[in-house]
Amino acid sequence: MNYCIKNATLVNEGQTFVASVFVSDGKIAKIVREVPEPVEGPVDVEAALRQAQGPYTQVIDATGKYLIPGIIDEHVHFREPGLTHKADIYTESRAAVAGGVTSFMDMPNTNPQTTTQELLQQKFNLAAEKSLANYSFYLGATNDNLAEVVKTDPKTVCGIKLFMGSSTGNMLVDKNEVLVRLFRESPCLIAAHCEDEQTIHENTVRCKDLAAKGEVIADASIHPFVRTMEACYKSSSKAVDMADHFGARLHVLHVSTQRELSLFRNDIPLKDKKITAETCPHYLLFDNHDYDQKSFAIKCNPAIKSHRDKEALLHALREGLIDTIGTDHAPHLKEEKFTGDYFTSKSGFPSIQHSLDVMVNVMKSGSLDMPLLVQLMCHNPALLYQIDRRGFICEGYFADLALVDMKDIHCISDEEEYSKCGWTPYVGMQSHCRVTHTFVNGNLVFEHGVFHEDCKGERLEFNR
Ligand SMILES: [Zn+2]
Repeated sequence: MNYCIKNATLVNEGQTFVASVFVSDGKIAKIVREVPEPVEGPVDVEAALRQAQGPYTQVIDATGKYLIPGIIDEHVHFREPGLTHKADIYTESRAAVAGGVTSFMDMPNTNPQTTTQELLQQKFNLAAEKSLANYSFYLGATNDNLAEVVKTDPKTVCGIKLFMGSSTGNMLVDKNEVLVRLFRESPCLIAAHCEDEQTIHENTVRCKDLAAKGEVIADASIHPFVRTMEACYKSSSKAVDMADHFGARLHVLHVSTQRELSLFRNDIPLKDKKITAETCPHYLLFDNHDYDQKSFAIKCNPAIKSHRDKEALLHALREGLIDTIGTDHAPHLKEEKFTGDYFTSKSGFPSIQHSLDVMVNVMKSGSLDMPLLVQLMCHNPALLYQIDRRGFICEGYFADLALVDMKDIHCISDEEEYSKCGWTPYVGMQSHCRVTHTFVNGNLVFEHGVFHEDCKGERLEFNR
């Protein structure tokens, strides 16, 4: 099927303008500014295209809606294989396309952990069968799999995931000689979770002790006192130092503190940076005051920190110190989150379906504008990972597109959650946008709440 997305308001490369986009054979065939209404006479692009391409072009009236490049979520945990009671590639890729996300990159802390080329290939095979969105998978680094890391093909794999501080699933790399060799020999980008394990361990012991004595209440609000700003900085500054020293390509994931911003630079263009940074929508929407109301729903690693951190992160996005927004979509069942106390509640929550809702709300608070939002969620992940022909609305690029109704004000509910776990920390939040259509490789996979599941996503390729 070919499509004409007519009279959309395109947001692309810093510009906002009305145009019609023609999709043909999976690619963006043509972008025509200000298509004249069909009138008598020969100047009707739509009619001309129908004539050229036969009667199979479906016209979608996009008047008054925004057309953006499909969102590229570089940081997700879809939990397959092994943890599929929480989530799987099929269910979470549905949540993705419902939120306008057309490509994702999935993390290796599954069961088994993705630490060999064979296990990595098995994930690609699963996704080819099940995923509605385009996909790539990180290989996980451990203390003893360097031989597997160096075999990674940078043209077909998004990167190496390094836990410089343990999180869900114990994949901590803590041997210095291994870190040295990893930064020296990794054939592709290293995406790092940076929190210092020793600091977190000491803080946990102290909080447990205080809780046992009844001196603190072990609720969600103690999380930033366990997973502290110091724990983040100690680890991320070490990673940045090592990457600098060995000339490695490092992407620091989910930056959550003001202090870490001094590690990054904005005086060179993204394509020339060797050290880059990501933050997540929840660090921009929430701060420590939200633990009262949201409790364990917003417990995640690294912890959501202070109002001052939140404001500094927003400033860093505007200044170009932080390059991308990834969700760190990390579903857990409600009972894994909410039964028990602080020490047993799992960290992480589903978010991929609502990253645009959250970022539009952040935008409405006056901090960002729509072109910057598109830059952070669509263009920059494509540039940073050097993804082949995605992330922009450009002729000849893959037709990964999301059509967004910015007049559909509604309340986010658990009932509309497509993630397998069936709940969202954003429940009750007023959303100022709704994705009405999502195209993946020119296929309309999501349309007004209905999924078309015949066509599956494709493996991302990288121009490295
Ligand atoms: Zn993560």
